[in-house]
Amino acid sequence: MAGFTLELTEDQQTLQKWLHEFSTDVIRPAASEWDEREETPWPVIQEAARAGIYSLDFFASIWGDESGISLPVAMEEIFWGDAGIGLAIVGSTLGLAGILGNGTPEQLGEWAPQCFGTPDDVKLCALAVSEPGAGSDVSSMKTTAVYDQKTDEWVLNGVKTWITNGGIAEVHVVVASVDAALKARGQASFVLGPDSKGRGLSQGQKFKKHGIRASHTSEVILDNCRIPGSQLLGGKDKLDARLAKARERQAALQRGESPSSGREKGGQAAMATFEASRPSVGAQAVGIARAAYEYSLDYAKTREQFGRPIVQNQGIAFMLADMKTKIDASRLLVWRAAWMGRNGVPFTSGEGSMSKLYAGETAVDVTEKAIQILGGNGYTREYPVERWHRDAKIYTIFEGTSEIQRLIISRAISGHQIP
Ligand SMILES: Cc1cc2nc3c(=O)[nH]c(=O)nc-3n(C[C@H](O)[C@H](O)[C@H](O)COP(=O)(O)OP(=O)(O)OC[C@H]3O[C@@H](n4cnc5c(N)ncnc54)[C@H](O)[C@@H]3O)c2cc1C
Repeated sequence: MAGFTLELTEDQQTLQKWLHEFSTDVIRPAASEWDEREETPWPVIQEAARAGIYSLDFFASIWGDESGISLPVAMEEIFWGDAGIGLAIVGSTLGLAGILGNGTPEQLGEWAPQCFGTPDDVKLCALAVSEPGAGSDVSSMKTTAVYDQKTDEWVLNGVKTWITNGGIAEVHVVVASVDAALKARGQASFVLGPDSKGRGLSQGQKFKKHGIRASHTSEVILDNCRIPGSQLLGGKDKLDARLAKARERQAALQRGESPSSGREKGGQAAMATFEASRPSVGAQAVGIARAAYEYSLDYAKTREQFGRPIVQNQGIAFMLADMKTKIDASRLLVWRAAWMGRNGVPFTSGEGSMSKLYAGETAVDVTEKAIQILGGNGYTREYPVERWHRDAKIYTIFEGTSEIQRLIISRAISGHQIP
């Protein structure tokens, strides 16, 4: 039996080297321009598609790695190049994961290729969950989906906000409430194709942002948007069975009975699936932090003040020592959670949240220290560290804020429903 190792396999090393080269040659040189333009970098996405990086096959292969480590390795290298462009390249996988997690094999076969298009005609996908009044508290969602039995159609109404690729995507995966009284248990996922645009689905406000400015973020408006019944992910029979169970559970609670352990396990399994995507978001933050650390280390070795390189001051060298230590600790938390998630090892202490929490906060801290090490240069747009700092901040906000990650971890370790 093989002993414990953190050494990457040959395939993983090849993947890492290939993506590092793509980031160095294609992503980094384009980063500043697309940050300033605040637009989707279509030519870069197309180049990634031609290289085989922006494709269903690529993501299927890294998701398929049984160790779970190829995914964070890939994310770290792409986001080392640039986080805004990185999100423009990997943002489609949010919606894809929604189809994979909730759809039937037939729905996956029909919709997954449409999320990417072809290298000559690239397409994007979006996942629309958040709403103006439902960010951290997704259960308070107001968007509704009502079934019209006469036409076998669903009718969607509501406003989604802060949606990555919202309105410009070919495919939108939308989560809506089908039974508001059941809160989160009364929600379902729908897949909306390009024909929904102009037929009830439209882009609302496009947001101007602090960072990750090459990634498009918009409102998505749903105004009597009618879609065929077949676009409910998972199908109607499965939804009806799930709603019946949820109503039974609610009735039991209202009678003062505690729900059976089987049903409770169901709820925890759903949470565990959500937790499983967090390590790859943590890996993106590790990529940004590593970029800033490497840049500021090189700078500290060459910048001279008082007749010696600034790295020869403990004040600077200790900062770099802390940066490197926190980056390596983040990566280890990310790899552990990625391995656990892929191998079905339960997150008994919120390990997925731990990895995203620590890596996100490390990225903010490390990029801030990098600005400090570069002094005045660090504060200007002539140098990339201020961009990395702006980009890093989103990692304490999206995919669950730092506070929500702490809530998940504290509930897991205490067994108490911390409010
Ligand atoms: C650039 C960007 C891209 C995004 N992409 C997408 C996307 O593609 N799809 C999508 O659906 N959503 C997306 N989002 C939305 C994102 O997931 C939400 O912004 C996030 O979940 C936080 O919700 P909120 O902004 O409403 O903050 P709020 O929930 O209003 O939180 C505000 C503050 O209160 C704190 N807080 C809230 N509840 C508690 C509590 N119980 N205990 C302690 N503190 C609490 C939060 O941690 C935070 O500090 C994106 C957001 C941004 C900014």
